Amino acid sequence: PPPKFPTNFPGRLEGKVAVITGGASGIGESTARLFVSHGAKVVIGDVQDELGHALCSDIGSDVISFVHCDVTNDDDVRNLVDTAVSKYGKLDIMFANAGIPGDVPNTLVEVNNEHFKRVMDVNVYGAYLAAKHAARVMIPEKKGSIVFTASMSSVMGGIDVPHAYAASKHAVLGLTKNLCIELGQHGIRVNCVSPFVIASPMLTKVFGLEASQVEDLVCRSANLKGAVLKAEDVAQAAVFLSSDESKYVSGLNLTIDGGYTTT
Ligand code: NAD
Repeated sequence: PPPKFPTNFPGRLEGKVAVITGGASGIGESTARLFVSHGAKVVIGDVQDELGHALCSDIGSDVISFVHCDVTNDDDVRNLVDTAVSKYGKLDIMFANAGIPGDVPNTLVEVNNEHFKRVMDVNVYGAYLAAKHAARVMIPEKKGSIVFTASMSSVMGGIDVPHAYAASKHAVLGLTKNLCIELGQHGIRVNCVSPFVIASPMLTKVFGLEASQVEDLVCRSANLKGAVLKAEDVAQAAVFLSSDESKYVSGLNLTIDGGYTTT
């Protein structure tokens, strides 16, 4: 079937193989669709099996596959990466995107300790495992692009932002900066994208609101008026950082926030 994602620049990832964690929903799903429309073969890893399989059937199973993967499980992440290599021959791109928001409301003395640890586990340890297994197969090839999904919470705090979430996304930026030094020695680039607020399933669930209500709220607080950030906009940034167009870009935190975190 023809790609379901509109784009003016097809083929920017022609011949490349990508893994996307958290690829069954939201930003990951949009990125999977856009990567395929740009010519990439994609393996998505997620804990939502039904959604993951449905996405693959929708896109076309010759170019995209689903693997059950909990990013906090080393064996799962190893298997995800190895599946991409065995199925499509190599790995060029790791989009380490899986993440969870943590608890709202967020009063420090009321934060559930186990929830705090779980957010760190998924958002930080999961990102680390994704990078580690990607590097394992990229290093011998002396090339590759690793892109993390951080957040505007990688560089700022906020009253409605769960503490664990802010801590975890600062850590993802730290990983980006540190890994880009080591992996740069092997020709591998490491960057992250940091979106503002998107009415993805993650956020609508957290706030118990409809997507349109989240977008109304966001429009009121956004720096850039007249535009609403969508998952597709983050996918576009992920394509750039995964493509050869960004071949000398590494260690970048690409903010997609209409300038919100600039001040
Ligand atoms: P989403 O909930 O739609 O997608 C996240 C995906 O990650 C889901 O499919 C979920 O099943 C998967 N996932 C969760 N835990 C997992 C685990 N242990 N192993 C594997 N997969 C797991 O939400 P989204 O908004 O698309 O979030 C994607 C990323 O974007 C996250 O890292 C999130 O922190 C980040 N982000 C989101 C926003 C926003 O406003 N929505 C803003 C900035 C950054």
